[in-house]
Amino acid sequence: MSYTPKNERYSCMKYTRCGNSGLKLPAISLGLWQNYGGVNAIETQREMLRLAFDLGITHFDLANNYGPPAGSAEENLGRILKMDFAAYRDELIVSTKAGNPMWDGPYGDGGSKKHMLASLDQSLKRMGLEYVDIFYSHRSDPETPLEETMRALDMAVRQGKALYVGLSNYSVEQTRMASAILKDLGTPCLIHQPKYNMFDRWIENGLQDVLKTEGIGSIAFSPLAKGLLTNRYLNGIPADSRAASSSRSLNVNAITEEIMLKVLRLNNIALERNQSLSQMVLAWVLREGRVTSALIGASKASQIEDNVAALSNLDFSQEELLKIEEILK
Ligand code: NDP
Repeated sequence: MSYTPKNERYSCMKYTRCGNSGLKLPAISLGLWQNYGGVNAIETQREMLRLAFDLGITHFDLANNYGPPAGSAEENLGRILKMDFAAYRDELIVSTKAGNPMWDGPYGDGGSKKHMLASLDQSLKRMGLEYVDIFYSHRSDPETPLEETMRALDMAVRQGKALYVGLSNYSVEQTRMASAILKDLGTPCLIHQPKYNMFDRWIENGLQDVLKTEGIGSIAFSPLAKGLLTNRYLNGIPADSRAASSSRSLNVNAITEEIMLKVLRLNNIALERNQSLSQMVLAWVLREGRVTSALIGASKASQIEDNVAALSNLDFSQEELLKIEEILK
């Protein structure tokens, strides 16, 4: 069936300027790391992407190796873009990344110019796109001079294959140095993509300060701690959940009694706020506007709907914040 996006899609979402750039990103973005591979039903993926766009999610995040098999998430997105979004390319922000292991041999991984630019060409081909909006270095590569990796990002922009560039998983110091190089090259870093959620707050120890000083935006990956910080595991491990799947991204052993006790207590605060736990957790990630976008994953359209509804209550009282700190201590 042909798809016509909802007219009211832009009134459901909040859009924030990314760092000092002119680009606005939705407060909630959708990542295609899990549940969008060749092993997953394309009709479910299509339903999720359509709903996301209807709810104002203009940003889809990918990487060369998302699947499984690696590359298949980009291929599936390419098919869905062609079927449903061909007329809406200018309303979408599509990102991809290179730097993690992708193909065999010395050029299939890392931060070399050879890997980065060959990978971007492959990604564009898989997605059927002429350019991506954001091209990331997925990780810093200690074996490659930082300047070479930054030159590869800059070259992607100069070749018209990317509009903006970003860094993912770079430490505080690496980010500072990479940002200086990119500024010198004339392609300032748009965005940093770190992991950030209630259980992993490393970016509060310096990274957020550097991003602010450098005028770089941020998009927090795994804001729901891969599903741990939702109601998913409150009553055991559902058969269709990530923890029960063969994906190694969430180990059952991570679901300890101690963690679940915290999740239960957080859930009680969410209930007092008339929110689902995932809604409160996303509101917390976005609090004080220091994160530009929360980058969620989803296995069902209903999860995306639930998560976007977080935007109707993003404020916390001082008392709620203190209670949350007490639980996370
Ligand atoms: P999340 O922390 O948002 O976890 C998503 C999972 O949480 C879903 O698959 C689902 O689990 C569960 N979930 C989501 N919404 C709800 C809800 N409303 N109620 C109950 N459960 C819910 O993020 P991900 O770990 O999936 O990562 C998101 C994106 O971040 C990736 O797709 C990718 O784009 C990016 N990323 C980037 C990395 C990097 O190195 N740069 C690394 C990892 C991720 P279930 O499947 O069990 O239903």
